Amino acid sequence: MADMAEGFVRGHGNDPRQTEALAMMVGAQIEPRGIRDERVLQAMRKVPRRLFVPEDLWDAAYEDRPLEIGAGQTISQPYIVAYMTECLGVESSDSVLEIGTGSGYQTAILAELASQVYTVEIIENLARTAKERLEDLGYNNIRFRVDNGRKGWPDEAPFDKIIVTAASDEIPPGLIEQLREGGRMILPVGVASQELIEGEKQHGTFQTHRKIAVRFVPLV
Ligand code: SAH
Repeated sequence: MADMAEGFVRGHGNDPRQTEALAMMVGAQIEPRGIRDERVLQAMRKVPRRLFVPEDLWDAAYEDRPLEIGAGQTISQPYIVAYMTECLGVESSDSVLEIGTGSGYQTAILAELASQVYTVEIIENLARTAKERLEDLGYNNIRFRVDNGRKGWPDEAPFDKIIVTAASDEIPPGLIEQLREGGRMILPVGVASQELIEGEKQHGTFQTHRKIAVRFVPLV
């Protein structure tokens, strides 16, 4: 689990305006929509979303919508990040695989909650920027890889939890293989219309539940 003093944003001091903006984001967008997991809420109040978007979008960083992060990709809406994280039920001893590093925002939320995060991004520039950003913020429990995430990260498998933040028309079989027995995965599935699928691996098979409708960029 990441080690950080209460309310102190790594390497960025204790900017009261940021703290207030984050508390408002959580209080106005996340809690009222039913997110209850206190660890998830704490992580959402801590990670400075602003630092994960281009500077010209800083004013919009705490709005209830996805934002462009370059290379045609987007940082997910804060509520969706909170929702997916809550569904995963990340525990402090967990090893988590994330496919689609993007800005690294979801990665930071996971790193607050898990023991170790492995994140895979296919666009090298995005991976590099996210890595620099997360290292600047002081996270030391994240490993980065530039690759096609459909393959997962076989050398570090099995994972307790897997999260995919780009949509595919099927659940990549390699990811199911790399999930620990009893482990959980959440991912958007579908092309024209997508929904979040959450599932657990029980007796070697992946048992799925359909959650909410979503809109993610496609998994390459
Ligand atoms: N979780 C991110 C959202 C990223 S958008 C955030 O919080 O910012 C989805 C990301 O998945 C994009 O960065 C895209 O480049 C990446 N992606 C798409 N297909 C991929 C693949 N096959 N393997 C790894 N990453 C992929």
